[in-house]
Amino acid sequence: MSRKIIAGNWKMNLNLKEGAELINAAEKYLAAKPVHHIDVIVAPPAYQLVQSSQLSKNERLSVAAQNMAAEEKGAFTGEISASMVKDAGAELVIIGHSERREIFGESDELLERKLKKALEHGLYPIFCVGESLSQRKNNEHFQHIENQLKAGLQSFSAEEVPQIIIAYEPIWAIGTGETASQEQAQEMHSFIRKYLGQQFSAAVADEVSILYGGSVKPDNARGLFGQPDIDGGLIGGASLDAESFTSLIQIGEEILR
Ligand code: PEP
Repeated sequence: MSRKIIAGNWKMNLNLKEGAELINAAEKYLAAKPVHHIDVIVAPPAYQLVQSSQLSKNERLSVAAQNMAAEEKGAFTGEISASMVKDAGAELVIIGHSERREIFGESDELLERKLKKALEHGLYPIFCVGESLSQRKNNEHFQHIENQLKAGLQSFSAEEVPQIIIAYEPIWAIGTGETASQEQAQEMHSFIRKYLGQQFSAAVADEVSILYGGSVKPDNARGLFGQPDIDGGLIGGASLDAESFTSLIQIGEEILR
């Protein structure tokens, strides 16, 4: 069975003090209302990984990097390697967020190498896929997601794939306030699960966590998390505020099954 997950992507937001306050609030919440079947993840900017890892003591709370290099080490100014992410205390890494693909031009080929490098170092990747608005309008969204999944996962074995968390994040819903309807999200999650079943096995399809991302907030999370193929959320804006992040954790604990 897949892990149920509430993950917060801080992007390039929050300073050290604000980051510490947010993690302390999540720790306090988890101590008062322990969660039993969901995992909580925070993805701070790289320079906060050490602090965030040191503050995240609850066994249900772990830390993800937002990105990492595909190379092992060397002359790559400005990059952070998988072993550095690990050394900083993080357990996961987001790979292929649409902002990395679109703004920084990260290609499918590069992302596959990043996924490989993450697994080599024992990091769990959160692999993001998602279509643009024009792809959806032209009814190309299923083909696009299939292409991204194929490019990222084709060289992995059925034993490796369950270590990868998939996040379906329609680009038109990220940071726009416009979320996919629960039907649209479920339809794509079910498509992704079927793809995993066909390419790998029914057991793999059952085991891989598929998160939804795109303007998830406490007021729309119940409907989304109640869908059978949605295993949780990758949350940007609403993860920056302790009250909304902890209420998303609470909704996840109540609704995700
Ligand atoms: C994200 O950053 O992955 C995201 C989904 O952002 P938001 O929740 O703000 O749309």
